[in-house]
Formats: sequence, structure tokens, C-alpha cells
Amino acid sequence: MKVVALAGGVGGAKLVNGLSKVIPGKDLSVIVNTGDDFLFHGLYVCPDLDTVLYTLAGINNPITGWGRNCETWHVLEELRKINEDVWFNIGDKDLAIHLERTRRLATGCTLTEVTRFLIEKFQVCCQVIPMTNTPVRTKVNTRELGRLDFQEYFVKHKFQPVLKSIEFENIDNATLSPEVSNAINQADLVVICPSNPFVSIAPILKIPGILQLINNKTSVAVSPLIEGKAIRGPAAKMFKELGIEPGPMAAAEFYKDILNGLVYDEKDGDLTIELHRWGIISLAANTRMIDEECQVKLAEVVCQFGKLLMKDPQV
Ligand code: GDP
Repeated sequence: MKVVALAGGVGGAKLVNGLSKVIPGKDLSVIVNTGDDFLFHGLYVCPDLDTVLYTLAGINNPITGWGRNCETWHVLEELRKINEDVWFNIGDKDLAIHLERTRRLATGCTLTEVTRFLIEKFQVCCQVIPMTNTPVRTKVNTRELGRLDFQEYFVKHKFQPVLKSIEFENIDNATLSPEVSNAINQADLVVICPSNPFVSIAPILKIPGILQLINNKTSVAVSPLIEGKAIRGPAAKMFKELGIEPGPMAAAEFYKDILNGLVYDEKDGDLTIELHRWGIISLAANTRMIDEECQVKLAEVVCQFGKLLMKDPQV
């Protein structure tokens, strides 16, 4: 079975890591959000791509969820001595990736080519593909501070401002890369990882042309919300601020036009009938991935569920 996973950062990377242990590398492709990308002192930083890359390579920081393990912070410490306004945290090892990525992009390589180079260097076996090579920038319109770049909202203001709306700047001009199209066309199953629907998955789904490709496939999502809460980050807060009760139903409604199946947490009770009304087949499971064993177990559940839906969409 060939699987294509759509992922953002931490939540996505965890399930993708589980999938990488149950699916041979040649059969797994991961399409990653790049709406969060930004320039740090002129360096091209891709937070979600790097979280996925570091997690798959086993060199991620398991405590923060982002950045490298065994990291040092010499450059950042020196930088903060001469510039008090530095609010983004980049460790020394992390910095090396951004330096090399920026250099390669400046020679004319696409982000897809640079990412392929990096995954090979770090001996990651599956494909990791940026959602597009076109720069797309997520902007968050907030009640208190107006329009913010996503990283300003997320890191500088710790997602405290109240959300009014989200925009993906330049999304209408974004083109599907051949790598993204091929990965979806060849896939038997599309897995929407438990990432933030608004800012990690929505930008991927808004790339012109991608929905038509996904619509031809069996697709399964894993809810990023458990008992009305996000494990981390602003997903639940965003749903609330937009007037929607956070939970697996909210995630299902978000994806209902493309979804065949939803895996949600067993702590959320039995939602079979409610979800069936939208034509979504559901499965309750332990979706909390506290360690690699849980990631692998959830990946197995998702793949088995996907196989069932591929055979019989009504199960
Ligand atoms: P970010 O870009 O680093 O914020 O990462 P993502 O968008 O990929 O992940 C954030 C989402 O992942 C949040 O909504 C979390 O609730 C969800 N998440 C994180 N860990 C888990 C987990 O173990 N299980 C589930 N179901 N969701 C998780």
C-alpha cells in the first residue's frame, strides 16, 4: 500500500514517524506545510519541514517537539547580546541546516530539491516534500494586534492574541510540484495527520489543484483534538475563537468534503452515528502519542482502517 501523509510540525511528525516504521520508505511520502516558513536574519527557515526531518532522522528534541536534540545555543546567546529583539529560538545545529538551505536556494535549487538533499544526508528513507515551491505565507488577523506573520503570532506573541481570520498570502499563485502530484496520484491512501487544521493542513489543501487529486483517493484523518483540547499549540483556541466547539467533530467538519474515515480518541466517546451523517466512517482509538510505541500503534491502526475503507468505503 502506498501512503501519502499531509503534515504540519509536531503532531504531524509524530504520526509520520510511526508510519515510517510500518510502511517501507519507498511507499511513504509526506507532504509538508510551508506556510510557516520565514526569514531569520536572512536565513530561510522551514519549521514544519525541519520538525518532520529531525523526527524521522531521530535527531529531534523530544521535549520541545521542535529543534535538534543535544543542541547548543552559542550563536543565539551572542546574537541576543547585540540585538535584544531576537524572539525566535534557533540552536547552533539547527542553524547549520538553515545556512545550507539558504545557500542552495540562492544557487537556484527549488525547496523540493533542497529538502530531498537534506533527507538523503540525514538518511531518511521516505520522501519528504514541501507542499509547493512557491512562497506562501500564513498571516493571522488578530483582534488586538492586527495582521501578524504566523511566526510573530505563534512564537513572539505565544498565540495569545484573539484570532479573527487566517490568510495564506500568495496561495492562488502556488503551483503543484510534479513531486506532490506524483505522490498523490500514486498513493492508495491519503492520511491527514493530527496537525493544526487551520494553519498546518489548510494551506496544503488550498494549493490550487490538490483537492481534485485527493478527492480520487481514500483518505483518513486523525483528530488533533482530544476531549476538546489540543495536545499543544493553538488549535483548540482557534476553533473556540471562530465560534466552533473544539473536538473530533470540529476536525471532521473541517475535512468532511474529502474525508472517508476519521480516527478520533477513545476518550471522546462514540461518535459513529454523528460522523456517519456526513458520510464519514469513524474509528475510536488511543490517539495520544506519548512515545514511539504509541506512534507506531496509531500508524498501524490508521493503515488497517485505511485498507478496510479502500476495499469498502461504507465498511
Ligand atoms: P506545529 O506546526 O508544530 O504546531 O504542529 P502541528 O500542526 O503538526 O501539530 C499541532 C497539533 O498536533 C495540535 O493541534 C495538537 O493537538 C496535535 N497533536 C500533538 N501531539 C498529538 C498527539 O499525540 N495526538 C494527537 N491526536 N494530536 C496531537
